[in-house]
Amino acid sequence: MREVLAEDAGQRRGIKIHPDEVVVSPGGKPNLFFPTLALIESGDEVIYPNPGFPTYEAMIKVADGVPVAIPLVEENGFSFDLEAFDKLVNERTKLIILNSPSNPTGGVIPAADLEHIASQIERYDCWVMSDELYTRIVYDGLEAPSIATLPEMRERTIIVDGFSKTYAMTGWRLGFGIMPKELAARIDLLLTHSIGSTAHFTQIAGIEAVTGPQEMVNVMVSEYQLRRNVIVDGLNTIPGFTCQKPQGAFYAFPNITGTGMDSTELANLILEKAGVALLPGNPFGGYGEGYLRLSYANSIENIEKGIERIRTVLI
Ligand code: PLP
Repeated sequence: MREVLAEDAGQRRGIKIHPDEVVVSPGGKPNLFFPTLALIESGDEVIYPNPGFPTYEAMIKVADGVPVAIPLVEENGFSFDLEAFDKLVNERTKLIILNSPSNPTGGVIPAADLEHIASQIERYDCWVMSDELYTRIVYDGLEAPSIATLPEMRERTIIVDGFSKTYAMTGWRLGFGIMPKELAARIDLLLTHSIGSTAHFTQIAGIEAVTGPQEMVNVMVSEYQLRRNVIVDGLNTIPGFTCQKPQGAFYAFPNITGTGMDSTELANLILEKAGVALLPGNPFGGYGEGYLRLSYANSIENIEKGIERIRTVLI
């Protein structure tokens, strides 16, 4: 499994990966959590995206690190606010977490921003965790570059990837991390003494997924792109909503400040009155307030029905 992943993940990113640098885990999450536990000492600062995947803040706190939220700004296609980043990064920064394409915003960090972030990582001698779970779900011919491809970054980067999104294998619990082999050996130890190992039959399925035909991944990404267009166009017809076109992942993240309601109040109202389940932006961090997160991993028919029902509640 590690040989297959080293070959495939390396070839997709244009970097050379040795199987000893690959850590297989039950889902991507253990490869977020255990490297954080391994690297963070009490009081170390960790910069993480906000709004962002809620696991980041939780795992920083478990490791007794200091969570430092970096705002993702809508005007920038939800990339980092680099000015804010420059003010927050310092000698106490031990780890920087990136997630591109992002959950919940669908934003992709452009290569120029990655170069800027990489120069600060080198200057302050920190680690970077690049959550690339959605790397293959990108639209309009765009690519989501990996910071690991930049000079001097490989030896400081933990790439986290998995099967949940690319192959829709969420329930199989299969993921992997790519990191320097000394760190990989320590993470393997943490995994051995906590979860044991990743189920072998699941790994066999993973090898089949990676080495088999890949057309279905492309077919699915084209389908997601159609759904994205339908959901974004639909959301922009709802009074008080404005929605950018996300460049990746399968979430729409409309700004709902025009409704005059807060995100939790509005999400509850939509659930109760329209029977449509979505998430308020708030649980993704304070900068998520004023937004909702909608998943479009659903049929176009259901998306259209859902939009119509939300509109009926809001007009
Ligand atoms: N990272 C991000 C950004 C995610 O959205 C998710 C799942 O929603 C994960 C990591 C974890 O995925 P898994 O543990 O299923 O591989």
